[in-house]
Amino acid sequence: MAKVVKFGGSSLADANQFRKVADIIKSDKERRYVVPSAPGKRYSDDIKVTDMLYTCYDEVCQGKNAITAFAPIAERFNGIIADLGLTISLDEEYEIIMENFRKQAGKDYAASRGEYLNGIILANYLGFQFVDAAKGIFFGRNGEFDADLTDATLSAILEGYDCAVIPGFYGARPDGTIKTFSRGGSDFTGSIVAKAIKAELYENWTDVPGFAVADPRIVDNPKFIDVITYRELRELSYMGASVLHQDAIFPVRSAQIPINIKNTNDPAAKGTMIVPEAPEGKNEHIITGIAGKKNFSAICLEKDEMNSEIGFLRRILTLMETEGIAFEHIPTGIDTMNILVNSDDLAGHPNFADRIKEVANPNHIEIEKNLALIAVVGRGMKATKGTATRIFAALSHANINIKMIDQGSSELNIIVGIEEADFEEAIRVIYNMFMLQE
Ligand code: ASP
Repeated sequence: MAKVVKFGGSSLADANQFRKVADIIKSDKERRYVVPSAPGKRYSDDIKVTDMLYTCYDEVCQGKNAITAFAPIAERFNGIIADLGLTISLDEEYEIIMENFRKQAGKDYAASRGEYLNGIILANYLGFQFVDAAKGIFFGRNGEFDADLTDATLSAILEGYDCAVIPGFYGARPDGTIKTFSRGGSDFTGSIVAKAIKAELYENWTDVPGFAVADPRIVDNPKFIDVITYRELRELSYMGASVLHQDAIFPVRSAQIPINIKNTNDPAAKGTMIVPEAPEGKNEHIITGIAGKKNFSAICLEKDEMNSEIGFLRRILTLMETEGIAFEHIPTGIDTMNILVNSDDLAGHPNFADRIKEVANPNHIEIEKNLALIAVVGRGMKATKGTATRIFAALSHANINIKMIDQGSSELNIIVGIEEADFEEAIRVIYNMFMLQE
């Protein structure tokens, strides 16, 4: 049996954090495959090594001396090595990296070196095998992640090692050049590794106690979620809950491997367990979490007898497809329809309303901006009556106008559209309604 443990940047920000990480790993024999991020912030206005690498690479491309530009990064890693009392030297690695920066090896290559170097240090400190992610994680020709090739190759490599460190965040293209996932992508690497070794558990170690029911920047001291299903998490992460990279559930989900979000600074705490299926029994609360996003626009359409006009929506969706505009929700009435889109997607299309008029000839069209969406998510909703009533009551007491309502077909979530200005207050009142009054 084996567990995959991924440690985020703040868990590996300095030697002291490395010691905590090593203690955690050594305290459980099953923690055998380790995925590190690059060193993160040691204090709030510190700079993450990944960001230092992006800056350094830009500077070298603009002609700055590579040794000078790279010095603060080398200093960061050398500091960790010295404080841990290790005898390795990364000087040769630094030489290779600086040479590749001079040759303009690419931003992704540059950013990936944080995880790469940190992985070498951690493997050395733990006495584990270092496995370069470029040897086992692959992208296709168009830059898409190649899940099948990766799974086959990585599982064959890792079978050969009882214990290994695989740096997060990057892999290789078919020509061997480095490509990274999007920011925070080490979470995804952890999930890929967990699938490859058929782990019993993927532990994702971070610096928070788990998933909060609502964003702690909006709700004071929110409760934390003990157990959440993959589907609930997908809804919440899509709507902005950001403890875990939003793609990270996919590899483990297909393999039905649970994820446990844990806090490196409080290892005994349970954290949040992300599971394939809802556990038996009733949840403590009807809702599992609340999350939301700003920056939406509604394209509001009216057309007499819209309901009997075949092809009305298709013509508009075809137009959106050709213009490359994705939609989020389409609540419809009898003669009315709202199409919710991300405002950034609309920004490049100033005459979009005219284009819709041409293809669909509505009686009225209006684009309403500055909307926010809030998703109230919970597997407990299905079995409980009155959830929507309580959401609407909370909003109405706070004098918040609801612009749109959408209940997901899975009965797992209710989404409301409101004005951006009401966003924070809406989250607070919904939280209070469900979490303080049950
Ligand atoms: N170091 C990368 C970042 O800062 C990837 C990660 O930490 O997951 O985004």
